[in-house]
Amino acid sequence: MNNIIISLSVAGMILTASCSGQEAADLIIINGKVLTVDDENPSSEAIAVKGEKIICVGTSGEVKRMAEEGITTVIDAGGRLVLPGFNDAHVHFGPLDPDYIELRYTTDPSVFTEKVKAHVAKSKPGRLIRGGHWEHEMLTDKKWPSKELIDKVSPDNPVILTRADGHSVLVNSYVLKASGITSKTKVPFGGEIQKDPATGEPTGIIKENAMDLIKTGEIVAVLSEKEEKEKIWQGYLMALKEARELGVTSIQIPGWGDFDAYEKLRATGNLTSRIDIGEPLTGDSQKLNKYLETANKYPGEGNWIRFGYLKAFIDGTIGSGTALMFEPFADNSNTSGLAMMPYEEFEKMVVAADKMGFQIGVHSIGDKGNNWTLNAFQKARELNGIRDSRHRNEHAQTLAPPDIPRFAELGVVASMQPTHCISDKKFVTKRIGEERAKGAYAWKSLADAGAKIAFGTDYQVEPLNPMEGLYASVTRKERLGEEGEGWHPEQKISMADAIRYYTIGAAYAQFMEDRKGMIKTGYLADIVITDKDLFTIPENEIMQTKVDYTIVGGKVVYSSGNK
Ligand SMILES: [Zn+2]
Repeated sequence: MNNIIISLSVAGMILTASCSGQEAADLIIINGKVLTVDDENPSSEAIAVKGEKIICVGTSGEVKRMAEEGITTVIDAGGRLVLPGFNDAHVHFGPLDPDYIELRYTTDPSVFTEKVKAHVAKSKPGRLIRGGHWEHEMLTDKKWPSKELIDKVSPDNPVILTRADGHSVLVNSYVLKASGITSKTKVPFGGEIQKDPATGEPTGIIKENAMDLIKTGEIVAVLSEKEEKEKIWQGYLMALKEARELGVTSIQIPGWGDFDAYEKLRATGNLTSRIDIGEPLTGDSQKLNKYLETANKYPGEGNWIRFGYLKAFIDGTIGSGTALMFEPFADNSNTSGLAMMPYEEFEKMVVAADKMGFQIGVHSIGDKGNNWTLNAFQKARELNGIRDSRHRNEHAQTLAPPDIPRFAELGVVASMQPTHCISDKKFVTKRIGEERAKGAYAWKSLADAGAKIAFGTDYQVEPLNPMEGLYASVTRKERLGEEGEGWHPEQKISMADAIRYYTIGAAYAQFMEDRKGMIKTGYLADIVITDKDLFTIPENEIMQTKVDYTIVGGKVVYSSGNK
């Protein structure tokens, strides 16, 4: 008993000592509801930061004493939720197209008009104007948008605005004319040309196979090399802006990326998210040696631009019926999916890369695809010995029950993207049947079996917004909400766990849990403050939650203006 009291008081002294007797903090956050994701100190009120690191996590009183007038930036969280920065463990990050009109989450149809008008003003006549990610169910009137919204502001330009799912587009009259689409056009099989019920005229909405009829009649812009470079540069800046506005402070790119571009962004002070970039998996020792050179140049000890893991694909997707399954698809008994390569070849590659110390991440969707991936990782352990390899099943989407405990047994990370579940659930049961659906997007079963889980988005397949992933994890419901308990509600997890997988879980997957993913003294000061309390709001407000502050390496890289 005495021992416990002594150790507690000693710990208390250390805590106090760490918050005082130091030089002034550069930044403090006070009056927060701090979720540290640190089991030893789960919640707190305030944080002090010096340079790029956290130097104190304590009470507002303790932390305030570390502030000095003229030196310390003070953020009063005013009771708001403070979290470690989001770490997206699977994101196809890269330059965006600066000319693309972003319409995701648009609720007011007049936004279509305004945004197209603004783009036309910057474009030459005849240039194609593209945009999309709209969903008509999100519009206030819930009606399909029509060409009238954009015709008046785009008389001399073709305009194509794609629905979020990519299966329908809104085009203007310029495109209809160039395509020769009229009320009399024969509709191709598997397609639809939406018509006004009153006039019979095309509304501008073209679906599925009818999209093949579209001809834009565009005048293609030829860019000089310099213009092309500038466009890509602007695209990177846009992508990073999106990330910091969403609180995404770390990005793990599956596969390859342009190291030089990120170096330039870093050198110019524009890199506001930490980046891991890998290379495609190979068994070729010459190539692997080349990768080692890159890995030495961007080592794991770094905090900004690091060499990630080697990526392979073992199969396809459930949506396209190419996921590798043990048994045929429920809705197509002729096929059980496609392996991207024979197992033996795959295993050889895994064993060779593992032997040289690389981390490997394999896109694994079907139950058999996941089984093969685990088998290859197991083989590598048998032949090369057990080490802290942290190989990853990227997606780990459909699992046969006996494979679930193997993640923990083999030390394999389940790198999952919760929004895939709510995007795919419309067709998954139909495609793989009720029984196999029990092992699909089964993050709760994996967690219960002791697996390490890392969350991400698979952007740009899914949106980058972590709030969507959190919503999907805890509800397993449609984005617009739905009655009932959600799809396979037995796999729902708590908000605390969802945040854990998006922070420390993702940091673990990249060997950075010793310095990232928690709000803890000595850790990198990657922090977000949200405008709503994710733990107390109703579930339909989770996706609407916004980030008010994003802090990366102790610097405020984004603030919403909501002080
Ligand atoms: Zn992906």
